[in-house]
This record gives sequence, C-alpha cells and structure tokens, in this order.
Amino acid sequence: MKQSLLDFSKREIEELMLEKNQKSFRGGQVYRALHLGCDFSEITTLPLSLRQELNDTFVAQPVKIIEKLVSIDGTQKFLFSLQDDNLIEGVLMKYKYGYTLCISTQVGCRMNCAFCASGLEGLIRNLTPGEMLGQVVCANKLLGGGLGDERKITNVVLMGSGEPLDNYDNTVTFLRLLSAEGGLNISTRNVSLSTSGLVPKMYDLANENFSLNLTVSLHSPFDEERQKIMPVAKKYKIQEILSACENYFEKTGRRYIFEYVLISGNNDGVRHANELIKLLKGKPCHVNLIRLNQVKEKDLISVTDKEAYRFSALLEKGGLSCSVRRRMGSDIDGACGQLRRRYLKEQN
Ligand code: SAH
Repeated sequence: MKQSLLDFSKREIEELMLEKNQKSFRGGQVYRALHLGCDFSEITTLPLSLRQELNDTFVAQPVKIIEKLVSIDGTQKFLFSLQDDNLIEGVLMKYKYGYTLCISTQVGCRMNCAFCASGLEGLIRNLTPGEMLGQVVCANKLLGGGLGDERKITNVVLMGSGEPLDNYDNTVTFLRLLSAEGGLNISTRNVSLSTSGLVPKMYDLANENFSLNLTVSLHSPFDEERQKIMPVAKKYKIQEILSACENYFEKTGRRYIFEYVLISGNNDGVRHANELIKLLKGKPCHVNLIRLNQVKEKDLISVTDKEAYRFSALLEKGGLSCSVRRRMGSDIDGACGQLRRRYLKEQN
C-alpha cells in the first residue's frame, strides 16, 4: 500500500517539496488540492514531472466512495473502499446548520459488543489518519464543498466502525489535520469522539488540547451486566470511567455525553434508570438514549419508541439531562458495520 499524502500536515508537504528541489509554496498548492479531493493528475498548477513523481511514491486519495444509499429521511450511507480493497462505512446526516459525517476509525473492531455488527469479525486493521480524513474529503467533495468557510461538512462524529481510542495516535493526527487552517478547518468543537471507555486513553485525550466532545458508550450502570454487553467492561469499571470523564471535564471544560443503547428486557428497567440517576446526578453530563438498531446476526430486540421515552422521562425526573436520539437511516442499514457486512456477503 502506498502512503497517502493526506497523512501529511501542510508543513510536512512543504518539507517534501524542498527535498524535491521545489519551492515550498508548492506544498500549499498540493495540500489544498488534496483536501479538496483532487488526484495528483488534477493538480494542474504543478509541473507535469512533479505530478508524476508524486504519483510514483504516494497516493493522493486513499478512500473512494463505491456505493451510496439514500434514506427516505435524507440520510446517506456511503460504502468506501480503501487501497487494499478493504471496505468501511460512513453516514451523512443533514441538519439545519449543515452536514454531519459519521466516519469509521478501523476496519472491523476488536470490542465485540453484543449488539454491534462491526465487531463480528474482529479487528482487520487500523485506519491511517489519511484514510479517516479521506472519508470527510470524499463526502465534502460529493456535496460540492470547498475548504474553510466553503466546506459543506460542518460536523464530524467518530461513531462509525472501530474504537477510535484503540487507534489513538492515528486518530489524534487525523483530528489535527481535520482542524488545521488551510484545509477543511473543522474545529474539534464540532467533532464528537465516541469510545467504549478505554480509560487510560481517555486521560491521554484530555491532555491533547482539543475542544472535542467526548462521548462514552455506557449501556448499563451495573458493571456485571455491562460486561455481558461489552466485553471491554471486564477491563475498565464504571467508576474508573466516571473518574476519567471528570478529569476530561476539569482539563477541557467540556461536558461529556453518555450513549445508552436501549435493549428490550436487558438494560431498560426501572432499576437501571434509578442506578443511572444515582451514578450521574449532578455531573456535567448528558445522556443520549439510542433505540437499538436491530442487527440480523444478533438476537437482541429494540425497545419501542414508547418505552424509550418512558425511560427518558424517568431519567429526567431524576434530574438528568437526557434525550432520545433521532432515528435516522434505519431503512438503509444505518447501524455500525451493517452495510459492509451485507456487501461482503453479496460478494461471496
Ligand atoms: N467504539 C466506539 C465508537 C463506535 S460505536 C464506541 O463504542 O463508542 C458508536 C455508537 O454506536 C456506540 O454508542 C455504539 O454502542 C452504538 N451502536 C453500535 N451498534 C449499534 C446498534 N446496532 N444499534 C444502536 N447503536 C449501536
């Protein structure tokens, strides 16, 4: 696999140009063009020989959209292919203020959560920073967006396949590239990172100087029951996660969000609501309730809308800030890893 120049910061590309006996301003030209989604052959401001030289060593765009599904609610789901033909997914959601893109951070996932399709075959490999950025670049280009204020993608969520904190260094490099001036320039304020709760990495993240929205998949207030839904819970206890969240708030001033996938007869009881209230009351956090997107391979059942709102009312009555996530794209295999799985099956 060739390295992608989308992995490089503007400064690194400028240095590369100097190594190639080019003026450093060429670096800016290349950087801009790559973030707009161009291939080397399309950067016609460069001498032809330089375009060819770059093409011999690097790839410009490491990610391509190979399939696009559009939901009746306007949500779009992309199937992206990578250089080594691995497949990943992204979801594009339209809101009043712009577009939010949900991206993947790994091919597959090693967390193996009970309700999620991404972990069914384990982790295949980490994505590079350029492959994460490439998803945003592709979608932005498709929407006719430019850079900076001209961008169409205004928000990014790291909630697709993969555990971002299990691919920590690449994720952090990606976040710096995404927010850098001269590129798409999407502030980390407009980025949410969701983790299954890898505690040591949550502490590291608090020291990165980002204004990132930290989102933690909780899914149960009881360690023992959480372990049945999320194997990673055997490693990190809920109290450790809460301490790491507290630290995140102290360091960044950002309140944090808990995701809670409601599974019928599993984690949706009154005792669950009561324990959540006990754990979270008074903390600078918000609870985002998610109705399970049922995955064929799993026999877990979603709560009804009514049950979800009843659970939400219990939390609110107990003093928690909470919401039920809008259901989007459920007709297009909207949940993590579902489209990729269907596609792989159809190929076989
Ligand atoms: N690994 C990270 C980020 C990816 S999952 C994490 O665990 O947070 C992003 C969110 O989607 C998580 O809250 C996850 O629990 C949720 N999710 C995964 N599969 C789902 C499904 N089938 N229905 C509803 N939510 C799901």
